[in-house]
Amino acid sequence: MRAPAQPSKPSSLRVELGPADNARRALLAAAIVGAPALWLGARAQPAPARIATPAQTEGPFYPVRLPQDADHDLLQNGTLRYGRGQPAWVDGTVTDLDGKPLRGAQVEIWQCDENGHYHHPGDGDRADAAFQGFGRVAVGDDGRYRFRTIRPVPYSGRTPHIHVKVKLGGRELLTTQLYVAGDPGNARDGLWRRLPEAARDAVTVPFERGADGLRARFPIVVAA
Ligand code: FE
Repeated sequence: MRAPAQPSKPSSLRVELGPADNARRALLAAAIVGAPALWLGARAQPAPARIATPAQTEGPFYPVRLPQDADHDLLQNGTLRYGRGQPAWVDGTVTDLDGKPLRGAQVEIWQCDENGHYHHPGDGDRADAAFQGFGRVAVGDDGRYRFRTIRPVPYSGRTPHIHVKVKLGGRELLTTQLYVAGDPGNARDGLWRRLPEAARDAVTVPFERGADGLRARFPIVVAA
């Protein structure tokens, strides 16, 4: 018995195919032809190895006691709102050397207020009560973190910087400092100058004007 005649699909397809479909078909064919070459290319050129974010000294002003309010927003301390300085978002990811998000990691930052004072007895406990001065966040599953703070300012002997610490469980994985790209004080700062160029680049980022104040993106890479 003969199979029933095929429905007239091919001819109806032909009818439906316009110039756009032909272009799409040509693209698809090119993609199929090109795919093995791309794949081989990717294998031939492994992704460049990530450089671990360089460590920097902790400095003398890590909080003796953590503030009651220790969240991501350093511009709001309890009920007090800090209105001085240039508001800035500092955000990024925490990844390992393979680029995998470091789930469960905590990022801490601490810095001086707009007048250059830390919440610390070693600095006379003179920091503005409205400035939280310290924040701690857990990174998301995607490794992301973010803080609301001010663009750091200089104080005697130091170029503007934000202190950063990364912890995983009870372990401290990294203590470093973040610098402002283009700040004229960097070249006079002993700690910054001591860093090799690649290390400087890894901890020196632009604070760029955005819709909501400044924004600095700081990717953190740790050897977990
Ligand atoms: Fe400092």
